[in-house]
Amino acid sequence: MVYLDYNASTPIDQRVLGAAVEALDVYGNPASSHHVVGQMAAELVNEARSRVAVSLGRSTQEVMFTSGATEAAVLGLLGVMLGSSSRPNIVVSPTEHKAVLEAAELGARLAGGEVRVVRVDRDGVVDVDDLDRLVDDSVAAVAVMAANNETGVIAPATAIADIAERVGALVFVDATQLLGKGSLDGVVALADVMVFSSHKIYGPKGAGALVASRSVQKLIVPIASGGGQERGFRGGTQNTPAIVGFGLAAELAMKEQASDAARIRDLANELLVGLRRKLPDVHVNGGEADRLPNTLNLRFVGADSEAVMASMPEICVSAGSACNSAVPSPSHVLLAMGMSGTEASESLRISLGRPTTRDEIDVAVTAISAAVSRVRELTGE
Ligand code: PLP
Repeated sequence: MVYLDYNASTPIDQRVLGAAVEALDVYGNPASSHHVVGQMAAELVNEARSRVAVSLGRSTQEVMFTSGATEAAVLGLLGVMLGSSSRPNIVVSPTEHKAVLEAAELGARLAGGEVRVVRVDRDGVVDVDDLDRLVDDSVAAVAVMAANNETGVIAPATAIADIAERVGALVFVDATQLLGKGSLDGVVALADVMVFSSHKIYGPKGAGALVASRSVQKLIVPIASGGGQERGFRGGTQNTPAIVGFGLAAELAMKEQASDAARIRDLANELLVGLRRKLPDVHVNGGEADRLPNTLNLRFVGADSEAVMASMPEICVSAGSACNSAVPSPSHVLLAMGMSGTEASESLRISLGRPTTRDEIDVAVTAISAAVSRVRELTGE
């Protein structure tokens, strides 16, 4: 089996596993600060918060733990929309993750406004002129993800932030896929609100973060304040072991990003070159844009991706994003990039990770090219 679906989820790093397993034994409620068992749990959560904050170069008061990026997006976007009554509208890129698109939809509906969708080009890069046209002082936030989960395409963060700032709209960045794979410097400096997820960076599932400056927090209406945890933005007993794992995973992601990226970029290039040597008509979706080093979204002309995957069960890749894969419809990201339904359904997402080896790439080249050739033969291409 060769796993090449790291944008969907990652195996837990062994160093992170050790820390998370140890934390499973710390059973106190982090909110029970009146006794020592609760204090032990609270210390672990605080240490994890400071690991995330220091890694990002933000303060601990800006980091609010959630169950993952989906929940962080809902808290952040709904909170901003409900808190900005004079600005009921929101601008989003059509290639956002469904977590963001649906939160934006609900937020705008509750605020009595609308979602304005900015155009992207054939590579999935936001059209900044169109963005400039759509953003006015009725817009509460501009949501453009740092890097796309399906294509790896990286957004022009500075241009987007400049346009939002002109009218005082908040910059909301889903940085789930950029953390650990590319430099976060520009995004951290420019974004008002960011969201992250632990299981994309070799941490446990069930943890993530909403990161927002203190001034922006004042604009956010807490959706689930509950017992007042997480500065009142996310009530509910914190998932101590997952948070501990997330803290360490975030620290490692930042420390090891540059060396991981260099190695993974070489392996991804080898995969592409190897496939092109064996197969004609292989296109890289988003190929002209700045992209994450680990992500290849490839279109094999004439080969339906579901059939290709069924023909190589030993290779774990993805057709469209994992969250949409239960629904057999073409990827909304590729459609937004102007591809037809057929072109989108001929596309496979292959995403490499820290554990990927050269041997795995060789196995994948052989298996994918054989599967694509089989499917093409069967369908007469
Ligand atoms: N945003 C992006 C870009 C993602 O890739 C994902 C996961 O697929 C999410 C948000 C949702 O993350 P989570 O699984 O932590 O809710």
